[in-house]
Amino acid sequence: MQRPLFTKMIINSQLVVALIICMNFFTDSKIYAENKIIPENILKEVNTALSHYPELGKVYIEFKFKPSLNKSFMKAQPKFSTLLKSKRKRRYVILMSKVFKIDGLELKIKDVPSDVLIGWIGHELGHILDYHERSSLNLIAFGLKYWLSKNYIREAERVADTYAVSHNMKDYILETKRFILNHSSLSEKYKARIKQLYLSPDEIMLLVKEQEKG
Ligand SMILES: [Zn+2]
Repeated sequence: MQRPLFTKMIINSQLVVALIICMNFFTDSKIYAENKIIPENILKEVNTALSHYPELGKVYIEFKFKPSLNKSFMKAQPKFSTLLKSKRKRRYVILMSKVFKIDGLELKIKDVPSDVLIGWIGHELGHILDYHERSSLNLIAFGLKYWLSKNYIREAERVADTYAVSHNMKDYILETKRFILNHSSLSEKYKARIKQLYLSPDEIMLLVKEQEKG
């Protein structure tokens, strides 16, 4: 009677070890999803973009759909209630519009190709990295300047793209730019705004060359 019980214990302990290994495997595979809230339908794209930003691994980021956002498809911002807390406790949200409406035209997120979406998310993560390196006071000043000055918006967008490119997301970022600039159903007015505020594909290639040199 003793022996089977002993054998059972060994089998049980082996099972526990196997379970622990399995759990480790799962926690490992979720390393980029730590402290993240991600809607199911964009999980793959978000995880791909996040895998380029290991330094954001522990940073709290919520990806949240809104019915629509004013003039943008996605928007990265710090959560206001955590703005004055320490960096470790600071939280961010990336708002995304389910349907991107611009000048009467509609673009649904499900109609955006996967790589374009990854580039878009990569750009937003660039903003978050930029925010995360700022102190609370600096971040508040940043918000005011972004709100007040078009030149400052362009500068902030350039920083986000620069981070994405330096995190090996060049191809995705170019896909996103080309998608916007070549998308026939997006209005010329919107494209002009994009050209004014964001880096062009040529400027991105220039950035890549600069980074390769430096
Ligand atoms: Zn941006």
